[in-house]
Amino acid sequence: MPEKPATTPPVFRFAPSPNGYLHLGHALSALLNHDMARAAGGRLLLRIEDIDITRCRPEYEQAIHDDLAWLGINYERPVRRQSEHTDAYREALDRLAAMGLIYPAFMSRGEVKRLVAEEEAAGSEWPRDPDGAPLYPPLDKSIPKPEAEARIAAGDQHVWRLDMAKALALVGKAPSFTETGPTHAGTLTLDPAVWGDVMLWRWDAPSSYHLSVVVDDALQGVTHVVRGLDLFAATPVHRLLQTLLDLPAPIYHHHRLILGEDGRKLSKSQGDTALAALRADGLSPLDIRRRVGLV
Ligand code: GLU
Repeated sequence: MPEKPATTPPVFRFAPSPNGYLHLGHALSALLNHDMARAAGGRLLLRIEDIDITRCRPEYEQAIHDDLAWLGINYERPVRRQSEHTDAYREALDRLAAMGLIYPAFMSRGEVKRLVAEEEAAGSEWPRDPDGAPLYPPLDKSIPKPEAEARIAAGDQHVWRLDMAKALALVGKAPSFTETGPTHAGTLTLDPAVWGDVMLWRWDAPSSYHLSVVVDDALQGVTHVVRGLDLFAATPVHRLLQTLLDLPAPIYHHHRLILGEDGRKLSKSQGDTALAALRADGLSPLDIRRRVGLV
């Protein structure tokens, strides 16, 4: 990629999913994006990651705007909502298809689980991804194309997966990335193959997190991705997709996670740590900054 002219301001984005109320972990992410954008003389975008229509709700989306306004975080308008841009993700999927890098995968989660259990009962250890989920079995890759097409035409439920081995063979080696977060700072080259054949298009929702996030970061000219360490391990997959699709690489900054009293990562289902609840309890935006360790 040619160097951007020095006058182009850096672009940051906060990209929550409206599938629950924001908690202190999101506050840290949003505030860091805001502070870093401001310090760099950059722009701040909000992106609503709502492709998972089964879990996203309008009231959660409204709460994101309310919480950010309360925290004093301004972002540019209009706000990109992923559910309105399925065509862009489809186009990216089609490009990968034209390169022969994706295949339809027909096994349900239950079928994968059964197969893995059988293999493990027979003594072979099945590889798992960084989240602990078993890698998708390679069986569907050998289904002859006409048979796969016939199954799709007959309405067989399927998702689209990246053929990781083929993709890596095409790019030659795992693409590196610049990380500026406190835990892993440096130029990193990590192997995306630890995730196996990642899903790029779901049957129950368009696109997938991995595909839509790289398409949007590129379309929106995002130069700095500031997000929680829980997404650090996904970054090699994003770098691989960017390389395959000829998209620029942002700089990555993965920040520490805010842990609950039990030492576990906060989750949206823990209503008591929702920003809205803390606000209702009388906490101020400055209290939130203190709670997430920013002052
Ligand atoms: N939508 C993702 C989430 O809410 C964040 C995506 C990203 O920052 O890359 O966890």
